[in-house]
Amino acid sequence: MTDHEAGRNKVDDYEVLLSSEQIEKRVKEIAEVISDDYRGKRPLLIGVLKGAVIFLSDLIRFLTIPVEIDFIAVSSYGNATASSGVVRILKDLEQSIQGKDVLIVEDIVDTGLTLNYLVENLGSRHPNSLRVVTLLDKPDRRKVKFEPDYCGFNIPDRFVIGYGLDYGEDYRQLSDLRVLDE
Ligand code: 5GP
Repeated sequence: MTDHEAGRNKVDDYEVLLSSEQIEKRVKEIAEVISDDYRGKRPLLIGVLKGAVIFLSDLIRFLTIPVEIDFIAVSSYGNATASSGVVRILKDLEQSIQGKDVLIVEDIVDTGLTLNYLVENLGSRHPNSLRVVTLLDKPDRRKVKFEPDYCGFNIPDRFVIGYGLDYGEDYRQLSDLRVLDE
């Protein structure tokens, strides 16, 4: 029987890497910088499903500029294909991004393969500008060179859950970011 089935909740035992208060403070700071950088514009924020949903919804409420939002879903490659960098679009945008100021909103940059692909793919659709904001970055894990334009926190090479990030679709609703040990 799993812990879930047994009604036990081990979540509280998982180490908190970033508390909801720390995250909120940092998301506010990033929102201020983005609001300044895009002053007078109306950027299109593209959330990468599903992990970035919580970050995007918090971020836009701290922005002081008008925005549009859209979502894209990409396949996560298994370990076997991670080195190939093959990423597939599972759900595409609802609109053309030609001439728009596009800001991709991601939960975490790990190997860099997903964002590398997304920047290339969306870049070929002729946006006016294209930048990336990520809440988390694990720079030690890069397989391809990739530098986000805005980043909330650099974190060590540990598997994290909560604040939108899952393990087998669980834990996305946690307010704190926690480390999932084996
Ligand atoms: P990348 O293409 O940069 O290797 O992968 C980015 C994606 O991998 C993220 O959008 C996320 O779905 C997943 N990922 C990478 N590291 C973690 C982690 O520590 N926890 C969780 N839950 N997902 C992660």
